[in-house]
Amino acid sequence: MKLSHSFTKTLRNAPKDESAHSAQLLIRAGYVHKELAGVYDYLPLGLRTLNKIENIIREELNAIGCEEVRMSALQNPDLWEKTGRWSNQAVDIWFKTELSAGGELGLAPTHEEPITNMLKTYIKSYKDLPLYVYQFQTKFRNELRAKSGIMRTREFLMKDLYSFSVDEKSHDEFYHKVENAYKKIYERVGLGDCTYQTFASGGIFSKFSHEFQTIIPVGEDTIYYNKDKSIVLNEEVKLPEVLDEFGVSEDELESTRAAEVGNIFTLKYKYSEPLDLKFNDKDGKEQTVFMGCYGIGVSRVMGVVAEKYADDKGLVWPAEIAPYQVYIVAIGEKGIEIASKLEQKYPESVLYDDRNNRPGEKFADAELMGIPYRVVISDKTLADDKVEYTERQSGDQKLLTLTEIEAILSEYEKDSKSH
Ligand code: ATP
Ligand code: MG
Repeated sequence: MKLSHSFTKTLRNAPKDESAHSAQLLIRAGYVHKELAGVYDYLPLGLRTLNKIENIIREELNAIGCEEVRMSALQNPDLWEKTGRWSNQAVDIWFKTELSAGGELGLAPTHEEPITNMLKTYIKSYKDLPLYVYQFQTKFRNELRAKSGIMRTREFLMKDLYSFSVDEKSHDEFYHKVENAYKKIYERVGLGDCTYQTFASGGIFSKFSHEFQTIIPVGEDTIYYNKDKSIVLNEEVKLPEVLDEFGVSEDELESTRAAEVGNIFTLKYKYSEPLDLKFNDKDGKEQTVFMGCYGIGVSRVMGVVAEKYADDKGLVWPAEIAPYQVYIVAIGEKGIEIASKLEQKYPESVLYDDRNNRPGEKFADAELMGIPYRVVISDKTLADDKVEYTERQSGDQKLLTLTEIEAILSEYEKDSKSH
């Protein structure tokens, strides 16, 4: 990609009302544009990173047998009435709208009701189960506070997966598969070493549900942990009887701030019962489908990674989710010729800064955008058949031959094409 072709520009200043460091940098570097509080547009660079996170999740879910759909954001109130979730008292973040033909519609904050209803058309017998259906979809929530940039917004991209099983045993097997898939996902997006599976409230069947919490100072949640006993608890379950059950005392727990990047729930019959999702078992007896749901805030994950890795110069992306892996700056005619060729040969991994700016400005933008590696191709080092290769995160610099650079680029190009 040639930078001169993009309509976006890096900005010197972020909007004054933007308090999160990640949001300031994402705006300044041209990843997102702020529409209004809690509402953002994804620009070419930001969309590439968001798509890469989405693809990692897709790969890991497909690997455990899940099937992808995309459901409508518009919601039929009748379904939500049946589960008691249409009222603004039950769900306080609804966006609702009126049909010009009369009646109301909702903008989906989540999809349990419509997916349970949809599957009534397809689930008839135990032979149709289990089913694991997911989507990447825009959710709408009328959040009271939107202050963490893309980490908490009123419109956001969620991956929501729903499981439909014949019984608890079959459900549990899949639940564990999702736990493992989630671990791989957080690992691959760069949050592996700071994301913990926590016990949370809201378990309908078992006492607990699980959340995946990433330790980060600006996180909105507080989690409590004991490293030796490998226990991590959400604040709301840190009750005397729960601590007893885990064999840990209050003063053995340390606390830290964290952001919820995903969760998994055993729903049991919470939605299948009121929405009447049934199947005939082996003996021809009618049974209710046993359900689970599993969310990941895709755009929140992007914000959390941005927040975690950023430094005083700008964003720092892990290579697997960076929009491009190598930022090329050319100095001198020979350099320009080589850079153009590399950009054409490796279009998925090279961001070539062909603008008419001073090298210093280009270096600053490379850092602000957080591209993992910078390559400077100048006549000076080309005299020794070398180019300068700098790692964004560490600042480590070395001289490599063009052959070595091409070997690195073709690896990245292969990776981004296989996703
Ligand atoms: P939170 O406690 O942060 O409000 P939640 O319990 O409402 O989250 P879910 O309804 O289970 O979350 O949504 C699934 C995932 O979607 C969450 O784990 C989180 O990563 C993400 N998410 C939830 N609300 C938002 C939001 N307003 N903006 C961006 N991502 C969100
Ligand atoms: Mg919420």
